[in-house]
Amino acid sequence: MTNSSRQLRFASVLDVIQRLDPSYPVFCVFPDVLRARAKTFVEGFPGTVLYAVKCNPHAFVLRALTEGGVQHFDTASISEIARVTEQLPDAHCYFNHPVKGRGALEAAADVYGIKDYVVDHPDELEKLVSIAGTDITVEVRIATPKGSAVYDLSAKFGATPGLAVELLKRANGHGCRTALAFHVGSQCLDPAAFRVAMEMAKAVADEADVPLEYLDVGGGFPASYKGDVPPLQSYFNAISDAKEKLGIGVPLLGEPGRALVAEGCSVLTQVHLRKGDDLYINDGIYGCLSEIRDGDLDPPVRVLRRDGPVEGPLRPFRLFGPTCDSLDVLKLPFDLPEDIREGDWIEFGLMGAYSIGMQTGFNGFVTDTVVRIDGMHEVFAT
Ligand SMILES: *Cc1c(COP(=O)(O)O)cnc(C)c1O
Repeated sequence: MTNSSRQLRFASVLDVIQRLDPSYPVFCVFPDVLRARAKTFVEGFPGTVLYAVKCNPHAFVLRALTEGGVQHFDTASISEIARVTEQLPDAHCYFNHPVKGRGALEAAADVYGIKDYVVDHPDELEKLVSIAGTDITVEVRIATPKGSAVYDLSAKFGATPGLAVELLKRANGHGCRTALAFHVGSQCLDPAAFRVAMEMAKAVADEADVPLEYLDVGGGFPASYKGDVPPLQSYFNAISDAKEKLGIGVPLLGEPGRALVAEGCSVLTQVHLRKGDDLYINDGIYGCLSEIRDGDLDPPVRVLRRDGPVEGPLRPFRLFGPTCDSLDVLKLPFDLPEDIREGDWIEFGLMGAYSIGMQTGFNGFVTDTVVRIDGMHEVFAT
């Protein structure tokens, strides 16, 4: 076998440490975990599953999700559409950003043949129709109440119910197919938020009285960082129950990002200096770990040496990232083994979502070594 055709795989995170001895951060992808997670969604969600590409656009992740049965993708830019289409020519992309540049719409319609577009304003609808024509499905996005999600996405996007009715009628008047969409917010901790949003969508649909192709219930399904997170199945049940009770006869779409991929990747960092209870590591808030600060997320961590995990009494440490900026510090204190020292590795689990795709490259620090690890990776607890 030649080098270029060799598919380098590792047996475990420890295998990565033993073979690479990495003093740079390593992004670890577990394709078996991603495939299993995709299968859980495809089999359990009562409709079509779209993967929200922004969550983690890495080729290894897209590949594993497709192998697990995901064939539809929620894309928000031409770059995402191009990436998915180049890698997966049979994939079906939806252009689900409510605000699109004219050039992007031209490329989406003429080059990539996209047929589904989100709007939340009349001017965007007119722009869309003038460029993409009317042989398209216009998905009207409605704003939903701020519930128990970590990120409220309706603060930025979404029409009021009244405006949504008007948009549906206008799109229908143009001769477009129509659909409804919402997003309850990311890391949504209450399954009932989906029912509340579906009730709103049903009221809008009844009022507009135009044929709908589908109802897209968005993403927001949570990953199990520390704390009580309802099981995925309770979200699927809440959505199926609401569909039945409200008499929603159209097919459902869902756009999970986080819950599909969080478990399937981890970030392996190394301690480069210890000063008392402060540790200086080689990834931080400008790299793959920004969500730990911005979302106040508490991912599982463990400490490794060449011969295995480090056990022993724990104490709280403050973790500084590699850039020269004093803001580059993780907000939470992390409980780590007392005798942690320079050269030890800290693995952050549940890091598949909003991590490698959000890096800035600031100050020359970037996590660009990505490895695949075979087998099911147990999510370790601290
Ligand atoms: C970000 C986003 C998603 C994915 O959200 P998660 O919380 O990661 O599940 C889905 N749909 C849209 C429109 C988004 O912007």
